[in-house]
Amino acid sequence: MKNLFILLLASITLISNAQIRCGTEAHTLELIEQYPDYAKAKSKVNTETENWIANNPNYQTKTIISIPVVVHVVWNTTAENISDARVFEQIEILNNDFRRTNIDTINTPSVWQGIDIAADCEIEFCLATTDPSGNTTSGITRTETTVSQFSIWGGSSVEDASDGGIDAWPNDDYLNIWVCDLGGGLLGYASPPSSWPNPTDGVVIGYKYFGLSGNNGAPYNKGRTATHEVGHWLNLEHIWGDNNCGNDNVSDTPTQEEENYGVPAFPHNTNSCGTTNPNGDMFMNYMDYTNDGAMNLFTLGQKTRMISAINQYRSNHLTQTICNGPTNIIDV
Ligand code: ZN
Ligand code: CA
Repeated sequence: MKNLFILLLASITLISNAQIRCGTEAHTLELIEQYPDYAKAKSKVNTETENWIANNPNYQTKTIISIPVVVHVVWNTTAENISDARVFEQIEILNNDFRRTNIDTINTPSVWQGIDIAADCEIEFCLATTDPSGNTTSGITRTETTVSQFSIWGGSSVEDASDGGIDAWPNDDYLNIWVCDLGGGLLGYASPPSSWPNPTDGVVIGYKYFGLSGNNGAPYNKGRTATHEVGHWLNLEHIWGDNNCGNDNVSDTPTQEEENYGVPAFPHNTNSCGTTNPNGDMFMNYMDYTNDGAMNLFTLGQKTRMISAINQYRSNHLTQTICNGPTNIIDV
């Protein structure tokens, strides 16, 4: 009896320590339920995206897009009040991953190394230099809260000041990234784009998984939670299409039966979804669920989808002047 009790206690501890890679699917369903206008707008996104891609075959000859970011650090304990250095690391990781200047590109299997597959997405991120009132800013806000854990499952929302979080900066002009203690072992979630103006639009990341977060966040400690969630924010879906052999609406990501975890060896799952594919799953794609250290690419098809999302739904980023550096105009 005592052993059973210990076993039970151990399994509860295991469950409470379980890490949930991504809450975007759950968050999207919640938004659809809560806002009929979002449901309507979201249902049109895939058709609108296909149309945009068909009408803009030459988009790739254009220049780099820079997206201004505001990072909202919402903290209850000092550990949650992450340093500026961690924020800088995360921005650098996003830039490396989206520009394919990450040091682990060499780990991409050679069959997917070509620039016709492994893409420089030509999207960059900067900490905003101007706040919504036109004042100079570091691009980082810090909010002390009495809320010990935020949640997408009926708890307090970090995107809401009246819930103990902080409201978004105008989300046409900024990518809002909230960093906080997320309950339920959740690493992060994002709001996928549509033509509906979502007041909570942005990305939320658990503080243990933001930047190079060391042992606390292992094996999700290399900042790829934000890479994955910003991918969702730019309209990417999970590589397995959130279904058994589902469709992620990207043609150069192989159809995949389900998500992968850990560090698989290439090739992985060469017989799945009713076919034989010698290369197997693209488990090293940022839109899978593998460990941060196992991920290393977005594909050209995913890039096309993200550029389309920016042009259709986040077009202020094409002409913004909040990022230092060159003006970033894609004239399509
Ligand atoms: Zn996800
Ligand atoms: Ca695919």
